[in-house]
Amino acid sequence: CKRIVIKIGTSSLMRADGSVNYQMIDRLAYVLTVLRKQEKEIVLVSSGAIGVGLDRLNLPQRPKSIPEQQAVASVGQAELMNLYTRFFSHYNQIVGQILMTLDIVQFPESRKNAENAFEQLLKMGIIPIVNENDAVSVEELDHQTKFGDNDRLSATVAEIISADLLIMLSDVPGFYDKNPMAHPDAVLFHTLHKVTEKEMALAGGNGSKFGTGGMATKLKAAKQILKNKQQMVLTQAADPTVLFDVLAGKEIGTYFVK
Ligand code: ADP
Repeated sequence: CKRIVIKIGTSSLMRADGSVNYQMIDRLAYVLTVLRKQEKEIVLVSSGAIGVGLDRLNLPQRPKSIPEQQAVASVGQAELMNLYTRFFSHYNQIVGQILMTLDIVQFPESRKNAENAFEQLLKMGIIPIVNENDAVSVEELDHQTKFGDNDRLSATVAEIISADLLIMLSDVPGFYDKNPMAHPDAVLFHTLHKVTEKEMALAGGNGSKFGTGGMATKLKAAKQILKNKQQMVLTQAADPTVLFDVLAGKEIGTYFVK
């Protein structure tokens, strides 16, 4: 695998008390920098703008109105990039920011522009850090104008840049036959060759306190990946060095492959 998209969820970037998990950002920066030095092309899709924004603005929870959420995302996105830039710079790694909206990938011209930006950043040895542009892109009721979750966004980024692998880092070790947070006897799927209604039915609920998509959006992302004959691994973020193991071919988490 040479070209790898790594997606990290809010639940892994924030601590349970709502503060930013600086240690996680530092360790992620270290591991991704090492991979980059091994001639891998790395793209990071990072959630967390709202979570970091809430922390920065001292708000206990996500505000109700959409404009307020946009404001939180605006503050949080800037702060999130500030953190990444600082932690990556400790390892001498330069990062760039790419903020996506759904319309960018829907129009061939803007889609090509996005592709060019990724290609150029990768050529320069820079790690692009991607998020949805939540300050300006909001959920519509009648038609879809937003990815809505970074799980599907990461699958689309993997598609645009023809990535060899999408690694999704979450707060669970993989996809189980039932929610492992509620059922200690849940059994992990090691490999899945397709995602059908049967699998979708096993992805219950909306996920953790901070996460937005839960398992359902991860399965939808996997479906998109499989449709494009690409590969995805879902595993736990707790220790980012797990990325070394995944790339060494160790059987970790849930592998989605045709
Ligand atoms: P992230 O912030 O990493 O995107 P989410 O909180 O959105 O994470 O989604 C992960 C959550 O999905 C887990 O914490 C778990 O509670 C929930 N979940 C629901 N069904 C399943 C399942 N079948 N297997 C694994 N996790 C599941």
